[in-house]
Amino acid sequence: RRSRAPRSERVAEVTAPAGLAKAGGHKFSHGHALVLSGGFGRTGAARLSARAALRAGAGLVTLGAPGAAQMEIAAQITALMLRRIEGAEELSELLEDDRLNALCLGPGLGLERSLELAPVALEAERPTLLDADALSAFADDPAELFGLLHKGCVLTPHGGEFARLFPDLAARLREVAEAGPAYSRVDAAREAARRAGCVVLLKGPDTVIAAPDGRCAVNAGVGARAAPWLATAGAGDVLAGLICGLMARGLAPFEAAGAGAWLHVEAARAFGPGLIAEDLPEALPGVLADLL
Ligand code: AMP
Ligand code: MG
Repeated sequence: RRSRAPRSERVAEVTAPAGLAKAGGHKFSHGHALVLSGGFGRTGAARLSARAALRAGAGLVTLGAPGAAQMEIAAQITALMLRRIEGAEELSELLEDDRLNALCLGPGLGLERSLELAPVALEAERPTLLDADALSAFADDPAELFGLLHKGCVLTPHGGEFARLFPDLAARLREVAEAGPAYSRVDAAREAARRAGCVVLLKGPDTVIAAPDGRCAVNAGVGARAAPWLATAGAGDVLAGLICGLMARGLAPFEAAGAGAWLHVEAARAFGPGLIAEDLPEALPGVLADLL
């Protein structure tokens, strides 16, 4: 539902994504997502993202991990492809394959590895999801990150990560008295998207998705659609992979972010209380089937 306000002031309500199934395609026409993983003992987050990208319907998903972490990953998921990515050089070589059409950076990636790999990944100008460590790594110099981002990017900060990249906006949100009642998470997300020059999805019970051109949508996780049990370790890593998988399938960044946020909450609602992060990708097919 859209209001009649000028485009830059409209806030849409996120609804079910349409047209996910593509008849007559093959796995490459369903997209190929690359999820970058951290090292040995730190691969869980990227495995959650990769599994969500697969369940979102990406035709192929490759996990890029250091050699020492590969056994750990291979022992867990069999539908994935695995590539050895120690550093910038291997990533740059891998990205010569332009069938890799969406990237996911950040979950479990580590701060140092994020600083090394993000510039190479962003230079490739593919639709790219940045979350977690890929955001926190630039806390000292957010402008450096903004200089690397392009319009195919989606940032998915939770409140803490948002504050690291946009400290003044987070401060305004905290000081409601000073900011006045008119200053909201919608305003903060919109300003953040304008600064970053790409889509910003600000996570929370209500998730706000803003684009640099002023488009904005809210996925309200309250009332009938509340799923407070979604606030569990790894849930954000699943959301990152889900949105990356939808971008691999060809959804534009703003639409992928909105659809991803919607599917994420619906999967949590379908599973119910007691949910842990790995249940989310498994609950997705049921939610997607209801959309057919
Ligand atoms: P992260 O902190 O990166 O693991 O992400 C947490 C995920 O849980 C995000 O998708 C949030 O939108 C979601 N979330 C956090 N708190 C709530 C809540 N109270 N109700 C529903 N979803 C929530
Ligand atoms: Mg997170």
